[in-house]
Amino acid sequence: MPRETLLPKKEKSDFTAEDLWRQDISRIFENWKKHFKDYSIQQIVEKLNIRSCSMQQIAEVLTTHGEKAFRAKQIWQWLWQKGITNFNEMSNLSLKTRQFLDEHFILQTGELTHKQESEDGTTKLGLTQPDGALIECVLIPGRDKATACVSSQVGCKLRCSFCATGGLGFTRDLQPEEIFDQVVTVKRLAEERGMPLTNIVFMGMGEPLLNYDNVLAAIDRITAEDGLGMSPYRLTLSTSGIVEGIRRLADDGVRFNLAVSLHSAVNATRDRIMPVNRAYPLPQLAEAIKYFVDKTGTRPTFEYLLLRDVNDSLEDAKALAQFCRQFPVKINIIEYNEVDNAPYRHSPDTHRDAFVRFLESKNIVVNVRRSKGRDIDAACGQLANKNRRS
Ligand code: SAH
Ligand code: SF4
Repeated sequence: MPRETLLPKKEKSDFTAEDLWRQDISRIFENWKKHFKDYSIQQIVEKLNIRSCSMQQIAEVLTTHGEKAFRAKQIWQWLWQKGITNFNEMSNLSLKTRQFLDEHFILQTGELTHKQESEDGTTKLGLTQPDGALIECVLIPGRDKATACVSSQVGCKLRCSFCATGGLGFTRDLQPEEIFDQVVTVKRLAEERGMPLTNIVFMGMGEPLLNYDNVLAAIDRITAEDGLGMSPYRLTLSTSGIVEGIRRLADDGVRFNLAVSLHSAVNATRDRIMPVNRAYPLPQLAEAIKYFVDKTGTRPTFEYLLLRDVNDSLEDAKALAQFCRQFPVKINIIEYNEVDNAPYRHSPDTHRDAFVRFLESKNIVVNVRRSKGRDIDAACGQLANKNRRS
């Protein structure tokens, strides 16, 4: 039997969402043409965002306008190795080529609108985007390192009850170039202060694994040889425990470090402080972490925020030690940066010391992280939170 007789005829009701979408788009386009009849298509179509183009695409635009293709490589270096913010900074290109770029492309960057410096040197920066979104990033100087803490989203959907970002709600995902810009901005500030940027942590606003593609595209530009060239081993992605995302990282064979914000190994407590736990309870999270460890051969870190009388008892430490027996991990104990409107207090030193001693007695590797930049509310989301209220 000929194959086509097996296929039903396409009825009107069988049009796919894509067919309908195409019809809509062509209707919108026809309206546009009427509306902008005095303009050329070139003028009404938006300029290309140069940082969402591949080097190949830039070369094509150049050559179709009689420019030399090899310029694309120079432009690429300015964009991703030097992280420039304006075509005029491309000093080895002629004025004519720079004008050409200005006519055909946009190079959109945020504006540095907020800067707060803490007594300990921690500096929080706010970059305002053209749509008004405020992106937070932080420079955290250390004894022999300088770390950039960057955001992956504006706000966050996950609403952890201790977190300032959680209280903001969600506005939007960040684009790869908006993530990249934060790193470049913090890197420049670190270099102005005479310290090279050594580390990057995705611990600012947002859940990076809910913006997977954009975050990985940004990491590619940060670590690539024809990008900023930073080592992936110096980069840490922190997640609240998005199980599919952790498995995908393992399948993608990533080489950067993974941190999981655990904050409790007692399911009912974690449900209460991190609503994401209701979607991905601890046993599922543990399976995903095992999968990650097996596939990548690396040791993740658990972030554990000590909240007074919530997760800082000896019973909590026992549950944590038990949970950690399933895989090789290390634990970062984090001091809580108190947030207005959140009903939590940081743990007293005596609770913390007993908690840490217990874990160490079980041969677990534990680091205690002092809170940095507390006087400037450097915890993620606190800048945007303050801004919103003022
Ligand atoms: N969404 C991701 C990454 C951003 S949050 C995640 O949750 O892992 C980065 C880290 O900051 C997380 O470990 C988070 O629990 C922690 N954090 C949030 N609010 C904090 C606060 N007020 N004080 C200290 N750490 C906080
Ligand atoms: Fe989102 Fe992380 Fe804050 Fe939770 S701790 S609300 S996941 S940014």
